[in-house]
Amino acid sequence: MQIHFLGTTGYHPNAQRHTMCVMIPTLGIVFDAGTGFFRVRDHLQTPELNILLSHAHLDHVIGLSFLFDVLYQKNTTAHLYAAADKLTGLAEHLFHPTLFPLRPPYQEHALSSLAPANRAGDSPELTPAAGGELTLACGTQVRWFPLEHPGGAVGFRLRLPDGQTIAYVTDTTASSTASYRAEIQDVDLLIHECYFDDGAEDHARLTGHSCLSPVLELVRDCRPKRTALVHLNPLSEWAPQPDKVQRLAAGLSVCIPADGEILTL
Ligand SMILES: [Zn+2]
Ligand SMILES: [Zn+2]
Repeated sequence: MQIHFLGTTGYHPNAQRHTMCVMIPTLGIVFDAGTGFFRVRDHLQTPELNILLSHAHLDHVIGLSFLFDVLYQKNTTAHLYAAADKLTGLAEHLFHPTLFPLRPPYQEHALSSLAPANRAGDSPELTPAAGGELTLACGTQVRWFPLEHPGGAVGFRLRLPDGQTIAYVTDTTASSTASYRAEIQDVDLLIHECYFDDGAEDHARLTGHSCLSPVLELVRDCRPKRTALVHLNPLSEWAPQPDKVQRLAAGLSVCIPADGEILTL
């Protein structure tokens, strides 16, 4: 199974990296639609394109506005999976007529699960807070779980039709007590954000992002077979440096994919 890293930075693109977009072409699955999303067109090979959105910050959704070109003369239907409030936010804001002339051609699917009513008599509320599961037409099981991040985000754990597992975790602050530890335990591939080098812990807490050492600590504890660090800071002064990553990650299988790089599971 090939995993294509089409965008690997956060916040804004730079000369080397576009913002977040990771694709599994043979299954028609894409994590996030940052500026790297325009590259999806070159890899489309399925009748369905399933876009799994972690959240609706601009560096993860601006590429949805490229969808007309991405799908042009392709026989592909786009499905967008996101928390209900993010779908509403996109429709009302990103695709407000003052910002964009048309609604892009995607079908909405809310990542919602029935939460218990607060009081007797209350109707159950649809909320992504508890996490949930669904199965895509390609046979991939998708589980989502909440992440701590300003405005809220979700992580994903996929079980592919061949039984391999992939976890996608961005944007959030890694720590030894992270709520999603069980979700990344022993996965075949963990794709985890690493926006800051060490020393930026205050910025990480404030912005809901991760520093290098807490991410590597999680990797040691949860033992994914391989880990790809993504959502790097676009300013190199703030990003973890590859030689330092390799030094601190000694004994672990950790890489920092470049845009265009392919990992084969
Ligand atoms: Zn981001
Ligand atoms: Zn964000």
